[in-house]
Amino acid sequence: MPHKRANNPAAIVVGGGPAGLTAAISLAEGGVQTVLVGLRPAKADNRTTALLAGSVAALDTLGVWSMCADQAAPLRTMRIVDDTGRLWRAPEVKFSADEIGLDAFGHNIENRHLIDALARRARNLPALSIIEDEVVAVSSQADAVAVNLKGGQSLRAQIVVGADGRQSLCRGAAGITTREHRYPQTAMTLCLSHSRPHHDTSTEFHTPAGPFTLVPLPGNRSSLVWVLDSATADEISALDDPALAARIEQASHSILGKLQVEPGRGLFPLTVSTARRFAAERIALVGEAAHVLPPIGAQGLNLGLRDAATIAELAVAAQRAGRDVGGTNVMSVYDRMRRADVGSRAIAIDLLNRSLLSDFLPVQSARGLGLYLLDRVGPLRRAVMREGVAPAASQPRLMRGEAL
Ligand SMILES: Cc1cc2nc3c(=O)[nH]c(=O)nc-3n(C[C@H](O)[C@H](O)[C@H](O)COP(=O)(O)OP(=O)(O)OC[C@H]3O[C@@H](n4cnc5c(N)ncnc54)[C@H](O)[C@@H]3O)c2cc1C
Repeated sequence: MPHKRANNPAAIVVGGGPAGLTAAISLAEGGVQTVLVGLRPAKADNRTTALLAGSVAALDTLGVWSMCADQAAPLRTMRIVDDTGRLWRAPEVKFSADEIGLDAFGHNIENRHLIDALARRARNLPALSIIEDEVVAVSSQADAVAVNLKGGQSLRAQIVVGADGRQSLCRGAAGITTREHRYPQTAMTLCLSHSRPHHDTSTEFHTPAGPFTLVPLPGNRSSLVWVLDSATADEISALDDPALAARIEQASHSILGKLQVEPGRGLFPLTVSTARRFAAERIALVGEAAHVLPPIGAQGLNLGLRDAATIAELAVAAQRAGRDVGGTNVMSVYDRMRRADVGSRAIAIDLLNRSLLSDFLPVQSARGLGLYLLDRVGPLRRAVMREGVAPAASQPRLMRGEAL
C-alpha cells in the first residue's frame, strides 16, 4: 500500500479491523494526520454485522456507505419469539421501524464487504497513510507515544488509538486491565440461502440455550447466529451441509422454507470483557480492544464505531483549538463518554442471556413480563426501540450525520 507522509503523524491507529479503519478515516477526514498500522486478518471473517441506523449514518458521512450499500439488506422488522417451551412463555414481540418514523432500524452486511469498502476509502485520503506491519511495542512519554513495528520502523505521535482487538497490545501498554466473564455457550455463525423471502425481517428465537437469530441479507439469503451450549455447538458444526441445513430448518420452524448453508462456518465462545478504563497514557481503546460482548442484540461493532467516532471528534476538536490531541483532557472525556454507553449495554446483554439460561422460575417470569410489557405498551416499546437504535446519551456527531 502507498506510504503518504507517514513520518510525523499526530495520530497512530493500531489495527486494521472495522473499528480501526473507521477511527483512522474519521481522524483523517477531520484533518488529523494519521498513520494506520495493521496486519491483514489471518483468516476470512465470514460474519455479518447488523449496523444500526447511527452507524450507517456515520459510514455515509465518511463516504464509505455508498461503496457497500448494495451489499447490505435493510432491517425493517425485528421479531422476538419465545421458544423456551417453559411454563412462563412470553408473547411474540414485533418491532417495526416505521413505528419510530424510520425506514429501517439498520442494515445487515457481510463483514468482508464492509471491511473492503472501509479499506478502499482509507486508501484515498491524503491525511491517512497505511502501513501493513505488526506493532511490537508501544511506549508512552510525557509529550508523545512511540510505536515500534516488527519491520524495524519507529513512529511517534501525540495519540495512539488502540484498535488491535481482543488481545490488545495497546491496552497492556496503557496499563489497562479488563473485567472478564466466560459463558458456557458458543455462537455458531454462517450464511444461508432459503426458498422463502425474509421480508426484511430479522427473527430471534429465544431458546433455553440462548438466542437463535436469523438476519436478512440481500435476496433470499440470511445470516445465522446460533447460541448453543458449547458441546452441542461442536457437535452441530461438525455436521455435513445437508444435515446442518435440516437442523437449522427445524430450529427455525421452517419460517424461511428450504435452506442451503454456504461455506464458512464460525464458532465463537461467548465472552464478555470490558476494559476498566477506555483511555490512559495517550492511548485510547476502540472496538474489541475496549469491549467484547456476546453476539446478542447486535451491539459489538455498533459500539466500536461509536468509540471510533467519539475519539475522532475529540481529537479533531483539540487540534482545531490548538490543544494537545492526546492530552489528559481528551483522554478523560473519552473515558467518561464511552464508559456509560458500553457499561449499560454490557449489563443489558448479560441480564438477557442469564435470564434465558436460568431455570429459576421468578427469573423466567420476569423476562416473560418484560416482553409482555414491550408487546402491550406502545410508548415503552417505542422508547426501547429508539434507545436501541440511537442511544440518547452517546451519539457522536458522525452518528447524527454531521461531518467532523
Ligand atoms: C458471532 C458474532 C456476531 C457478531 N455480530 C455483530 C452484529 O451483528 N453487530 C455488531 O455491531 N457487532 C457484531 N459482532 C461484534 C463484531 O464482530 C466485533 O465488534 C468486531 O468485529 C470487532 O472489530 P475490531 O475492529 O474491534 O477488532 P478486529 O476485527 O479483531 O480487528 C483487530 C485488528 O487488529 C490487528 N492487530 C492485532 N494486533 C496487532 C498488532 N500488534 N499490530 C498490528 N495489527 C494488529 C488484527 O490483525 C486485526 O485485523 C459480532 C461478533 C460475533 C463474535
